[in-house]
Amino acid sequence: MNRAEPVRPKDQVCFQCRRCGNCCRDLEGQLMLEPLDAYHLARLLREQGKAASIDDVYVRYAHPDIVEGILPIYLMDTVGPGHACVFLKDGRCSVYEARPYVCRIYPFSVRPGERGRTFEYFRCVDQHAAHFSDGRVLVKDWLRENFSRESREFWSAEGGILPILSPLLNKLDAGELQASLCQLLHYRYYNYDLDEPFQPQYQANMAALVRVLRQRMGEV
Ligand code: SF4
Ligand code: SF4
Repeated sequence: MNRAEPVRPKDQVCFQCRRCGNCCRDLEGQLMLEPLDAYHLARLLREQGKAASIDDVYVRYAHPDIVEGILPIYLMDTVGPGHACVFLKDGRCSVYEARPYVCRIYPFSVRPGERGRTFEYFRCVDQHAAHFSDGRVLVKDWLRENFSRESREFWSAEGGILPILSPLLNKLDAGELQASLCQLLHYRYYNYDLDEPFQPQYQANMAALVRVLRQRMGEV
């Protein structure tokens, strides 16, 4: 079972990536694609002529799932018997510049903070822990390099919106939830112009989604 041990930004951790690609394998149902990840993947794939819009990323490289029976998500597709990420080519990430946030920050992870802290940080002690036997990384430097300001803004905003969205969705009966699915997917995942900055679009989308759900429930 995977474990995560708390770390502080000032901690030094023994870590060196050996570029084995193992953390990109055995990922069936594991790698969640957040809208910010899909936005950056779509921009890169558009440059490479492999996608025209954010929709193409979900259609060609991901599949939907549902969390706790109410919240639709997208998971990255995998290929082959080893369930490797669809973007792993010849042992290397083919979308490295636009790899999702969890890939970027691995072998660390971030969760919303408690007791007034915005975030808490962890070291993933999983089946790939051999990379913790050599080298040295200052957690603060790793975060500066890999946990971008844009990701911080997104996750802070998610921390604010999910406690509003979840109770709203929980109040909908099965029929209303089904009827809301298109709007949920539209505002949460699809309604992004790749030539405009992500965060203002995300904020506007989430505000619109909350408004639509409240209207459906007759709250406004
Ligand atoms: S982070 Fe670890 S598992 Fe992933 S490529 Fe580097 S050494 Fe391999
Ligand atoms: S997107 Fe790249 S780094 Fe992330 S799992 Fe896939 S191949 Fe690995």
